[in-house]
Amino acid sequence: MKVENKNLLPVITSENDVYPYLKKINQFPILTDEEEKKLAIDWLEHGDTKAAQKLVTSHLRLVAKIAMGYKGYGLPLFDLISEGNLGLIQAIRKFDPDKGFRLATYAIWWIRASIQEYVLHSWSLVKIGTTAAQKKLFFNLRRLRNQLKKYEEGYLTNDQIKSISEDLGVTENEVKQMEGRVFNKDFSLNTPLNDENDSEWIDQVEDETINTAKKIEENDVLDKRKALYNQAVKKLEPRELEKLIKINNEVQLEQISAEFNSKLNILPIGNFSNLLIKDRGHLGLAVKLTGNFSKITANKDFLLVGAGVLDHFFSQYCYRNKISGYEFLHTIPGSIGGNIFMNAGCYGNEIKDKLISVIYYDIKRSKICEIRRQDINFDYRKGFQNPNTIILYGKFKIEIGDQAVIKNTMKENEFKRNLTQPQKVNCCGSIFKNPSNQNAWKLIKTSLDDSFYTGPIKLSLKHSNFFENDPNISADLIENFIKTIQKKVEEKHNITLEKELQII
Ligand SMILES: Cc1cc2nc3c(=O)[nH]c(=O)nc-3n(C[C@H](O)[C@H](O)[C@H](O)COP(=O)(O)OP(=O)(O)OC[C@H]3O[C@@H](n4cnc5c(N)ncnc54)[C@H](O)[C@@H]3O)c2cc1C
Repeated sequence: MKVENKNLLPVITSENDVYPYLKKINQFPILTDEEEKKLAIDWLEHGDTKAAQKLVTSHLRLVAKIAMGYKGYGLPLFDLISEGNLGLIQAIRKFDPDKGFRLATYAIWWIRASIQEYVLHSWSLVKIGTTAAQKKLFFNLRRLRNQLKKYEEGYLTNDQIKSISEDLGVTENEVKQMEGRVFNKDFSLNTPLNDENDSEWIDQVEDETINTAKKIEENDVLDKRKALYNQAVKKLEPRELEKLIKINNEVQLEQISAEFNSKLNILPIGNFSNLLIKDRGHLGLAVKLTGNFSKITANKDFLLVGAGVLDHFFSQYCYRNKISGYEFLHTIPGSIGGNIFMNAGCYGNEIKDKLISVIYYDIKRSKICEIRRQDINFDYRKGFQNPNTIILYGKFKIEIGDQAVIKNTMKENEFKRNLTQPQKVNCCGSIFKNPSNQNAWKLIKTSLDDSFYTGPIKLSLKHSNFFENDPNISADLIENFIKTIQKKVEEKHNITLEKELQII
């Protein structure tokens, strides 16, 4: 077990770690009311991450205690604890010490919610509880069933079903269905195929998540980004000169090359995570890659990854196949095409370091070409940006690693990201690139007053180089906001910040 990382947060990676982890977290001091308040203010008002860490470590015991209460669902305790820890971080982000409650009182709800979501998600491939009543039923059925069936085996009788339905305010049918699901748990895809080898049933199932763009877009985790994406796409459709087309394969690409060669302005789009379309719309043709371009194919020496594959899915794929080095993509909300264009990176990794070559479509020559990584002029947040090209695939290196380490790195990245950046809000990632040897967020923070941190478009209190915006705000207002920040930083520090966000 990795008991301490450099941030002094204990990390738990397997069931064997549980006991040493519990021992370790017991050593963190419990905070007094005053200490807690001061740390919360230091974190909320001054972004002091050390203060946030102390708030986290002093409440890890609470998370472990709550997680123990969910052991009966047959899930690994270390996973329950990890999920609870994510809930704790959310609570710390939202905690307002001026409301007069202790953090523990407030955090309990977040921790429970996070663990319950994980339990629900893990228990059935068919969602077990989508409404509040169903969730209540799921989490109380076991207890009530145990009370009623203390001395007998078998299914609930009609009277027992009636009694539970009245108790929990749900229909008898819902109780029956839930009993069927909970006590005839889904067959696990991780069940070994047979005793002789390591294969699991999951290995035999076609991985649709990476094969179809539709599946990818449907994933829960990306719902928020999907909403933003759809909103942005709408801007590309209403006027005659603005058109969005989806291209599924190389044949289609050839077929529409004539249209490309008319004077239309072509804009390839990825997952819209770093792209802002001005209110006038894009005067040209926007291209979205799906189908073949949303697939990952493993070859002997490289992975061929479609430009339309989302980062999150690529990193999950690598985790499942024990391929290391792509953990950093787990928390970036882009696509492989966007990554190659931007040279996306975080936590000391950049996409360029993993690339072997890029396969792209040369619009002017109507030709598919390949360029080696060493022939591309990569720089910080500047990738393969040749005009008139559409990135189709990246060829990536394969390095086999330890699956537990890969998972741990992904979780650590998620943990860091939750702690330091706004989540689940409308935002476009970093607004500006970091100038050399400087942090854009620090330059912004020291140049602007509090008025920039409120209103329908505002800087994030967690990270001054991120803005959060009301979903209906116009792109032009956002652009003006960005220009004002740029001007203020120039006045204060005599430095012109370069935009990372692509405004078209
Ligand atoms: C919350 C949040 C956190 C983020 N964190 C990070 C981070 O840690 N590190 C980081 O590097 N970035 C980060 N980003 C920014 C963004 O996710 C990355 O830049 C990502 O690589 C963009 O990918 P995309 O598919 O969304 O591209 P889009 O936003 O759709 O497009 C970005 C640019 O790439 C071009 N492009 C997209 N696909 C293609 C293609 N197939 N061919 C040619 N050009 C193409 C577009 O024309 C556009 O100019 C973050 C963004 C958000 C919202």
